[in-house]
Amino acid sequence: MIPAPFDHITPVTLDEAIRALTSHGEEAKLLAGGHSLLPLMKLRLASPKLLIDLSKIPGLAGIRQEGDKMTVGALTTHYQIESSELLKEKCPLLPQTARVIGDVQVRNRGTIGGSLAHADPAADLAAAMLALGAELRVRGAQGERWLKAEEFFLDLMTTALSPSEILTEIRVPVLSGRCGTAYLKLPQKASGFALVGVAVWLRADGGLCADIGVGVTGLGAKPFRAVRVERHLRRKRLEPALIETASAEVTLRIEPLGDIHASAEFRAHLARLYTYRAIVEAARTAGISLTKAKGK
Ligand SMILES: Cc1cc2nc3c(=O)[nH]c(=O)nc-3n(C[C@H](O)[C@H](O)[C@H](O)COP(=O)(O)OP(=O)(O)OC[C@H]3O[C@@H](n4cnc5c(N)ncnc54)[C@H](O)[C@@H]3O)c2cc1C
Repeated sequence: MIPAPFDHITPVTLDEAIRALTSHGEEAKLLAGGHSLLPLMKLRLASPKLLIDLSKIPGLAGIRQEGDKMTVGALTTHYQIESSELLKEKCPLLPQTARVIGDVQVRNRGTIGGSLAHADPAADLAAAMLALGAELRVRGAQGERWLKAEEFFLDLMTTALSPSEILTEIRVPVLSGRCGTAYLKLPQKASGFALVGVAVWLRADGGLCADIGVGVTGLGAKPFRAVRVERHLRRKRLEPALIETASAEVTLRIEPLGDIHASAEFRAHLARLYTYRAIVEAARTAGISLTKAKGK
């Protein structure tokens, strides 16, 4: 449980951090909240020679509105997201998701940037990012670029970030009009990580679902956007039977993970059930009244 020896630097500008990252290559790792990286180092599953601590770089944390978008800095903690009154009003799916991450200690230290960059297949915020169609701003030696959440997650713990790139901020839409949101997960009992978690936002137009986003975590090797489910429901009148048929599509073309916590079959079952429940809850908060289907 003791990590291999390492050096630690605290750059005060983003350029300084990028230079250190570029010159040390594979030997360096960025440090944000440390709640994923340090456990790996203690188990010696990661042994970076240099930790580049992001905590002293100004402007990397914070939540602000820019027109019809909300911007969240990469170093913003889960607790800051969970307790942000601005996000509760403008994009409640983020606080709803952040508040069920791990426990209070994890939420106090863990950051949104660290969670997304680490790309755990069961990370909660990834599901919300995908549902909302978030855009991720990254800076590296080659300059700056924006990535869509769908382009960001490539595989198990693998993202589109190049080794010299730093995730700096995340942009999500302000949910205006009659919008409803929900994030539901079945937590693994020890860590709180999702066996399966489903994030949904939808916009209502009378009893119709005018638009919808569905993001799923925990089911496969990477979190994904359930586009088939969305297509099934967009511009339709929401009824329990329709939502049930749409939710069954969440597992199509996905290879569910199986491990000591849940078999692949159980995860697939949970994905269909939690997709159904999250859509019903989002519809309810958008003001659409539905009668509950039997057994749900
Ligand atoms: C007991 C426990 C329970 C947990 N439960 C949950 C849970 O229920 N749900 C959940 O989603 N998560 C859970 N987590 C994970 C937690 O949310 C972590 O905080 C998060 O995954 C990583 O964020 P961090 O800021 O701690 O990143 P760090 O551990 O500092 O970094 C993680 C990785 O991301 C890289 N990195 C960090 N910041 C950036 C950046 N800005 N740009 C590029 N790369 C970067 C680092 O180099 C490292 O490789 C749990 C963790 C623990 C220890």
